[in-house]
Amino acid sequence: MIDTHIHADTRSSEDFGIMSQEGIKTAITCSYYPYKLNNNPDILINHFERILNFETKRAGEYNLDLKVALGMHPTNTLRKSDKIFEYLEKMINTDKIVAIGEIGLDENTEEEKIGFKKQLEIADETNTKVIIHTPRKNKKSVLKDIKEIVLENIKPNLVVMDHINKETIEEVIDEGFKIGLTVQPQKLTPKDAVDILDNYGFNNFLLNSDISNKPSDILSIPKTVKELEKLNYNRKEIEKVKSKNAKSFFKI
Ligand SMILES: [Zn+2]
Repeated sequence: MIDTHIHADTRSSEDFGIMSQEGIKTAITCSYYPYKLNNNPDILINHFERILNFETKRAGEYNLDLKVALGMHPTNTLRKSDKIFEYLEKMINTDKIVAIGEIGLDENTEEEKIGFKKQLEIADETNTKVIIHTPRKNKKSVLKDIKEIVLENIKPNLVVMDHINKETIEEVIDEGFKIGLTVQPQKLTPKDAVDILDNYGFNNFLLNSDISNKPSDILSIPKTVKELEKLNYNRKEIEKVKSKNAKSFFKI
């Protein structure tokens, strides 16, 4: 299985061991710094390097193959971000990351929009995938702005629109994006994810747990897959959301 969106730096090595034992062989860890940046890009770059050099090694020791997505999360928006953008371009050119992410809008401020647009431009120019965060608060209205900015700045086939739920799926299903279902306490239960897949088919979906320092479940992907198996969905269809879609989209 592939968990397409986690925050490895917030979890223990024992968690990686359990995930691996339960069949998660690969995970994509996204950047998000949970504390103050004081408008200092070096703090964020230090966070990026920790993920690239330290977390990948730590997870590897527990048989979890960790792939990396780096980007300036909307809540990490800096007044001056040029250094961050240059860093991202360097990591793309040296094949160190599989995507820019997670990026997007959260409070939906003008500063967030500027940083978001710039990162979409970099991704579009370099044909890099992007993992886009849609917020918990005012999800539907912020998603409208996200969608508008995305459609103006990047080819839709490079985009994962993440944390989509039953209320927002109709807004994104026909736009050519991959759609991320975050199976997590307070967001989506395995049963909710199954309902969405049942309604819309398996082709365009990626599953993730978004495990972080907020309430999360390290085994939400195996639980969702088990639920699908229990309900006797076609094995080939299950395979798509277990790993196949993620493998071909991120080329991992
Ligand atoms: Zn996340």
